[in-house]
Amino acid sequence: MSIQESLDKIRPALQMRVSNSLARGAGVRENFQEQLGRFLDLLRQAVLSGDPAWLDTILAEWSNARTETDLESGERNLSGLLKKVITYSLEIARESLTEPEALELLSGLMPIYLYTVEKAAASENESRAQYLANELQTAQTRLQRLDKSKSNFIAVAAHELKTPLTLIEGYAAMIGDLASNENEQIHILIQGSHNGIRRMREIVDDMIDVSMIDNHLLTLNTQPVWLNRIFNMLHADFASILERRKHKLEIKPFTGSEELFFADPERLYQALKNLLSNAVKYTPDGGLIVVDGRTLPGFVEITITDTGIGIAPENQEIIFEKFGQLGDVSLHSSGKTKFKGGGPGLGLAITKGIIEAHHGSVWVESEGYDEIKCLGSTFHVLLPLRSQPSDPNLAKLFGANESLSGNPLTDQ
Ligand code: ADP
Repeated sequence: MSIQESLDKIRPALQMRVSNSLARGAGVRENFQEQLGRFLDLLRQAVLSGDPAWLDTILAEWSNARTETDLESGERNLSGLLKKVITYSLEIARESLTEPEALELLSGLMPIYLYTVEKAAASENESRAQYLANELQTAQTRLQRLDKSKSNFIAVAAHELKTPLTLIEGYAAMIGDLASNENEQIHILIQGSHNGIRRMREIVDDMIDVSMIDNHLLTLNTQPVWLNRIFNMLHADFASILERRKHKLEIKPFTGSEELFFADPERLYQALKNLLSNAVKYTPDGGLIVVDGRTLPGFVEITITDTGIGIAPENQEIIFEKFGQLGDVSLHSSGKTKFKGGGPGLGLAITKGIIEAHHGSVWVESEGYDEIKCLGSTFHVLLPLRSQPSDPNLAKLFGANESLSGNPLTDQ
């Protein structure tokens, strides 16, 4: 018996067994029988001609007919179907043909089956990869939309809060003036409300800054800057807080700290202040905070090292995202300088935005988080040592006279 005759002989049983095992329900089975019939016709042609490409069209059709559910659950329909066809071909050939006939048929069929399995696997992998890429794209779009609405919310909330805050601030100042000669108690109460208002203004300002950074609206006012002057100011500003928390702040005279370069002094002060207040906040009383640095070709690197609670490696990137505060938000003591007095989690996002607007970078190194061992953290800030302001007109001006800024951070 020829291979074709053997194939014709096993065909009815093969068609029946495969469709019974795969298609449930009479209607589905009828449709599937028809499809399988086409496959077996083409298989016959492939065996006759010795060219497995006869099956390409039907394999492509079946592969494209996969449903979203198949892809979601990762089912491999086409490979599964071909596996059944191969298994039943072997089984039925063994049952209904003589051994030499079966051997001859299977040696003709196997290269074709191998070809179909390879094709199916390749097309399944391709459509699964395409499906996953689409899913990723959808998730990314959704995330971007969410981030955008978060950023819009921050901007709107901050601007809406700013107006009533200014009113409260004004009225509190007026009450303060009126009550200045009244009793001491009222004075203390007014001072308390002033502190609250100042803290709230800081938070609102942070919200505005973060939304400006998110929307790429942060503009820099570049002027000559000396890092040692910024750190001297910070040292003076932090003096009472350091005393209260019994911390020691050591500012080393590193190379580059006395060098003039162009940057936005106010924004740089803000960025470094955030890092220092975090060092104060996340270090138990009596800690040591060291500011050091060095120059690298074209850059200055500042390091702020504390003896605080440290940061786990998996959180060392997250903390630079907005609202990237760690730990339970409800446990925050909401203080600017109290130990672990977590704020809204915007400080490092602002610092990162400011440093990146200067084309620099900021990152942290810490051996890990441990409130008992206090492994400490080192924040690194890398800033380009620009020798000119970004505005060409200013560059000319500063070339003529370097002390035009009138800024306490830049002028002595
Ligand atoms: P927050 O307002 O919570 O201080 P930040 O953006 O300034 O927000 O910091 C984000 C988080 O990073 C903090 O909540 C804290 O968990 C962690 N962190 C920042 N600086 C330090 C530090 N020096 N030591 C330990 N943890 C820190």
